[in-house]
Amino acid sequence: MKEKNDLMEKIVALSKRRGFIYPGSEIYGGLANTYDYGPMGAELLRNIRNIWWEFFVQQREDIVGIDASIISSHKVWDASGHTAGFSDAMIDCKNCQARMRADHLIEDFAGKNGEEIKVEGLSESELDKIITDKKVPCPKCGEHNWTPVRKFNLLFPVKLGILEGDQSLAYLRGETAQSIFINFKNVLDSTRVKMPFGVAQIGKSFRNEITPGNSIFRTIEFEQGEIEYFFDPEKEDWEKLFNTWKDDMWQFATDKLGVSAENLRWRPHTDEERSFYSKRTEDMEYNFPFGFKELWGLAYRADYDLTQHTKHSGKELVVVDSETGKKIVPHVIEPAVGINRLFLMTLVDAYREEEGRIFLKLSPKITPFKAAVFPLLHNKPELMDKAQEVYKMIKKQMPAAWDARGNIGKRYASQDEIGTPFCITVDFDTLTDGAVTVRDRDTAAQERVKIENLLDYLNSKILS
Ligand code: ATP
Repeated sequence: MKEKNDLMEKIVALSKRRGFIYPGSEIYGGLANTYDYGPMGAELLRNIRNIWWEFFVQQREDIVGIDASIISSHKVWDASGHTAGFSDAMIDCKNCQARMRADHLIEDFAGKNGEEIKVEGLSESELDKIITDKKVPCPKCGEHNWTPVRKFNLLFPVKLGILEGDQSLAYLRGETAQSIFINFKNVLDSTRVKMPFGVAQIGKSFRNEITPGNSIFRTIEFEQGEIEYFFDPEKEDWEKLFNTWKDDMWQFATDKLGVSAENLRWRPHTDEERSFYSKRTEDMEYNFPFGFKELWGLAYRADYDLTQHTKHSGKELVVVDSETGKKIVPHVIEPAVGINRLFLMTLVDAYREEEGRIFLKLSPKITPFKAAVFPLLHNKPELMDKAQEVYKMIKKQMPAAWDARGNIGKRYASQDEIGTPFCITVDFDTLTDGAVTVRDRDTAAQERVKIENLLDYLNSKILS
């Protein structure tokens, strides 16, 4: 366990040191559960987002994308059930005023004692009873002096309008899924989609989370990648579709993001935790340093959402069968992932300390830079000029870094820490043989490559 805590600490430290993640509002003392992404983090996040979009939208014929508003009418969230039921159970320590989620308090306490206690779907009084019976202490001050467990809603209300009496209530979206459902008819009317088809979206969601810690795993502002896959339940076998989605998600995590399959697993939801309208829900979990945790949810939601929005909006959300004229309310399978959780997973999975060096064994498809170029010596103009030429040639095709400071060893170490897969050195031989030394991040092996072949060489390695 200690090793795992150390790993998380090291990743957090590296993320700050090398510009992946910074604590939010840091110079003003910070703001809990918010983070900013630095120059390296912005690139990594963007690459993950793009690769998700390419894989699930652009490379498929049956999925289209939308990009909807973050602020939406309160009616959307009334219909979806979020204003009434999107809540967590929280508890306060009367001694030190620490506030936390009651389910997390019990899970962490049980985990430390090697016990497993199921908390999913329990009521406030059932959670209270476990905390009292087990005499669960406050993790901050060690006392057992709790308020009763109570529910709080996770949605962020926003008041629109400038005059008090005139203001209308809206919400920052708590998930991206609802804006897909409310645009269902728009997509049907404006495109040529035919069932089965999916509508995808990547965008920010907001939840008033109170559990701090574990870096960007759980934040109040985060990015989701969600797909609603609509199908006719009479024509499709939902179990088959569900399993195909499981395969696609697994392939994305392992092949596209390059994460090790041993660190992933599926966890079916228990009857208590599954929503009443869902016939099957499974989470893909990743083995984070703080345990196996949800990365990606997959839920068969039947026709619940479209039916709710039809009831509340009065607009019929159906597909009309072109042959029979029959109106069908499609059923839906929903894969929902946090892009920031994918980000944290790739960092955890890639972190290596071997033979005295630290490197991120990230898939070259997602690294901030694909290559770095160095002149062997910075005070030799002929080396600087040639190296700049090589650097500019690469940079036209792919993100590349330049470094002429310090010695080559330090430059390798610096690129290793941000996961740059290839370091290219221009030396005196380059001036006569037109070749450069390419050093591989993972093996530290070096080979000479002709400058004229360099782009093909890099492309083949990055795409493979
Ligand atoms: P959790 O149980 O971890 O709170 P959830 O079951 O509420 O998650 P969903 O509503 O199914 O999550 O959201 C889909 C995905 O969005 C999750 O699998 C996760 O990757 C991501 N996600 C949800 N909440 C957060 C958050 N606060 N911060 C970062 N990512 C989140």
